[in-house]
Amino acid sequence: MNIAIIGAGWAGMAAAVAAVQAGHHVTVFEAARTVGGRARALDAAAPDGTALALDNGQHILIGAYTESLRLMRLVGVDVDAALLRLPLVLRFPDGSGLRLPDLPPPWDALLGIARARGWSWGERLALLRMAHAWQRAGFACHPGDTVAQLCANLPARLLEGFIDPLCVAALNTPAQEASGPVFLRVLQDSLFSGRGGSNLLLPRVDLGTLFPETAARWLRGRGAIVCTGQRALSLAAGRRNDWQVDGTAFDAVVLATSSTEAARLVSQCAQTAPYALTVPMCDWSASAQALRFEAITTVYAQGTPHADGRLLPEPMLALHGDAGHPAQFVFDRGQLGGPPGLLAFVASASRGERAQTERQVLEQARQQLGLAGLQAVQTVVEKRATFACTPGLQRPAAAIAPGLQACGDYIEGPYPATLEGAVRSGTAAVQAL
Ligand SMILES: Cc1cc2nc3c(=O)[nH]c(=O)nc-3n(C[C@H](O)[C@H](O)[C@H](O)COP(=O)(O)OP(=O)(O)OC[C@H]3O[C@@H](n4cnc5c(N)ncnc54)[C@H](O)[C@@H]3O)c2cc1C
Repeated sequence: MNIAIIGAGWAGMAAAVAAVQAGHHVTVFEAARTVGGRARALDAAAPDGTALALDNGQHILIGAYTESLRLMRLVGVDVDAALLRLPLVLRFPDGSGLRLPDLPPPWDALLGIARARGWSWGERLALLRMAHAWQRAGFACHPGDTVAQLCANLPARLLEGFIDPLCVAALNTPAQEASGPVFLRVLQDSLFSGRGGSNLLLPRVDLGTLFPETAARWLRGRGAIVCTGQRALSLAAGRRNDWQVDGTAFDAVVLATSSTEAARLVSQCAQTAPYALTVPMCDWSASAQALRFEAITTVYAQGTPHADGRLLPEPMLALHGDAGHPAQFVFDRGQLGGPPGLLAFVASASRGERAQTERQVLEQARQQLGLAGLQAVQTVVEKRATFACTPGLQRPAAAIAPGLQACGDYIEGPYPATLEGAVRSGTAAVQAL
């Protein structure tokens, strides 16, 4: 088939790889000048003016991201070199928090919780009891439960120091509003999918190199066309069971754009589509249009590294976040292949505007890390970073019409908005054509 893929984020690139592997002719349309979408490399400048490769946002992968890892290897990424693999750590600057040992599940979680620093025995037992109850219930709960309701019986220190940061890191939605069932599914897949599933994988290369740019080279090398700087303006149902993208006919189309852009293209297409397709297309478009979003702000700041090149004791630390202290995590990019002393602060579910968030994060670094004199390098606010992962959310299905599929992190599936959800839906969309 002659297939058009609209959008070259991680989902679109996964779809394009699957389509080329299945022997189809593939054309990818990408509106931006670079591929990667919401997980892309960003050219920036260091305070002294030298070129700096950053990302539009600091990302973490976990060992259970099997499809992402498979695709990276397939397009030629040396995964062991490109990702720093660490046991799951959720440590604060004072050393309190959790670090799982390298053991098969459930022993890693059991021992990790038993040895957690700064928690009383009562708190550790409360968490173990709760984890056991979730496992006994098959990691299922009432569809309307929020994460806060699910964890209501846990002591306040565990909520603030463990559940809240874990929830906001995984679902980018505060625990009071986040979906309990999706949270449990993430816990199940990371903690019980097998040895290493809960490992943190921290990129040591920029996000473009990690997959989308390497995939684009792999695709072009196999005859696929990847057009950047080319926004698909219109989609129409053709007369011969084909689909027209800006007037060019394709046997099938995969919409791999954001949900809002997919909703626009599908609702516009419904206006001239055959009668039988009009209602399902309008319904699909309405469900994609109904999603709400959460922002993520990444503040890059430069400090003076120690003699060993490090600025933090670990590549990643948890921070105490609240309304006036927006960051929940900080990464030492100097320990991740970046220039020594460069930190990336991540404020998930961030609500403030850019200059204010940047100021607050620098002050938070002074208070919680003892780092005065950090110099802001670049602050990236992604207003629509992920959909708000709330209980009972109806996400759009992948199938829109015969020969027309959608993929992306927002498509119906078990995961919140993640790289893994995006690539899984990309691969599945092509298999369903
Ligand atoms: C700051 C930040 C931090 C994050 N952290 C993590 C993390 O730590 N771990 C994790 O797993 N996930 C994380 N995520 C989520 C992850 O980045 C997304 O789930 C994933 O990138 C979504 O990929 P996608 O392909 O579905 O969509 P997108 O990346 O949005 O791709 C859509 C593409 O379509 C293009 N496009 C749109 N309209 C058109 C058109 N008309 N024609 C042609 N092209 C078009 C866009 O330019 C874009 O390139 C984070 C996201 C952000 C923003």
